[in-house]
Amino acid sequence: MIIEEEKIQEASEKLLDKERIVVLTGSGISAESGIPTFRGEDGLWKKYSPEEFGTISGILFQFAKNPGKIIDFALNLIEVFNSADPNEGHKALARLEKKYKKKVTIITQNIDDLHERAGSTEVLKIHGDLYRLRCTRCGYKMKIDRDYLSDYQQKLKEILSSPLKIIKEGKKLLPKCPQCSGLMRPDVVFFGEPLPQKELALSYMAIDSADAMIIVGTSGEVYPANTLPYRAKENGALLIEVNPQRTIFSDIVDFFLMGTATEILPRLIP
Ligand code: NAD
Ligand code: ZN
Repeated sequence: MIIEEEKIQEASEKLLDKERIVVLTGSGISAESGIPTFRGEDGLWKKYSPEEFGTISGILFQFAKNPGKIIDFALNLIEVFNSADPNEGHKALARLEKKYKKKVTIITQNIDDLHERAGSTEVLKIHGDLYRLRCTRCGYKMKIDRDYLSDYQQKLKEILSSPLKIIKEGKKLLPKCPQCSGLMRPDVVFFGEPLPQKELALSYMAIDSADAMIIVGTSGEVYPANTLPYRAKENGALLIEVNPQRTIFSDIVDFFLMGTATEILPRLIP
């Protein structure tokens, strides 16, 4: 264990010597905030299949076939995300900016709001944002907050209480665009959908000028996020990975620090 502590110490010194730092995070960083990783043991996709619940067409089909099941899924999702708070891992990453005055860009595959809540100011959400709606007709984007989702949750619970209400009032629950009255959808990337191009371009730019990258809680199974560490490596950046398990990146990084986000990050960025 002494060796492990020395390794974290060495990684920390090298990291804090750098000025421009990119952080790539996946669902693992939010696991200890109570948001399960999608593929993990208690993951969401174990309970709700990605074919049925991970695509817009799947959701619409389910809504027509069995609206109660979709409402149940939405209730579950809102409950989990709305009750999560940033953990010591998110907070340590925010310290890079606040305490150490580094230029930091967080590239996250997460749709939660925990990096911002912890105090990070530049967060690129390449898989979208649960706290934003997007018009399916004109593309207008609308920021929503936790209260909005809680109110929505209450409405869902009410109509879930009676099958008749689901049929009569279900459609009314779909939010309308304030600009064109088109249907608003969550601004998150579902399976098979393209990634937001602006966020992706900004991610590449940040990586191309970064001298270090920290990779936390991502298995590297999702494209194109999984190509980003290789790009940083080619640019000669210092690479540090934090994960309780080895991943496809572990062999190319300068430091693989085995452990959870809250175990390792506060020691890496004290
Ligand atoms: P993933 O494939 O990136 O796997 C999660 C990784 O986190 C694994 O490598 C695992 O070993 C690691 N991990 C688990 N617990 C950890 C901890 N406490 N600290 C550090 N690392 C830990 O991610 P996924 O779960 O398969 O999700 C795929 C996609 O689904 C994501 O890219 C994301 O878009 C979305 N998602 C978002 C959230 C969120 O917003 N919080 C949650 C789940 C899934
Ligand atoms: Zn619109």
